[in-house]
Amino acid sequence: MINEILNNNKQFLQQTNVPQVGHAPCKRTAIVTCMDCRLVGMFESALGLERGDVLELRTAGATISQPDRVNANNDLIRSLAGGIYLLGVREIIVVGHTECGLTKINPTALSASMQAMGVDPKTLIEQEHLGNMDGLVNWMGAFQDVHINVQQVVDVIKKSPFLPDIPVHGLVIDINTGELTTADTIQ
Ligand SMILES: [Zn+2]
Repeated sequence: MINEILNNNKQFLQQTNVPQVGHAPCKRTAIVTCMDCRLVGMFESALGLERGDVLELRTAGATISQPDRVNANNDLIRSLAGGIYLLGVREIIVVGHTECGLTKINPTALSASMQAMGVDPKTLIEQEHLGNMDGLVNWMGAFQDVHINVQQVVDVIKKSPFLPDIPVHGLVIDINTGELTTADTIQ
């Protein structure tokens, strides 16, 4: 894959002149979404976003895992803080998606996959004080309902002591059609 990318890049450089845009997002907005590969090439079009418009932050599940919610201090919060204090962000939108892999984590399959890759889940659980397999699944960021999870992530961001009081919204995108629905009112 790395060679394919480097070859693609040569073609890109021959065919494309990238327009210059500013460093600060001109819509003064940060958008948090998932790493799902089906969002690639679709997400920005579905939201009408252009280069330079917004900061785009991706985590598995567009989520903050349970252990990191307590103090609202993790890499996503750090990135949002940089966006707000250094790049002028004044609004945050969390966009989860339907059929997210984090709603379907099978502990047995996770454990087997780790072992096949030479990582022993039991040792890891002990070393990292995760308690049990459920703790490991929580560390991975598993959740049941995407609308509820987006609302919870919105709340964690709103309450983070590292961030100021600015609007934080929650949306869910249909991974197949690109349709957005609001997660703001669902408890
Ligand atoms: Zn996802």
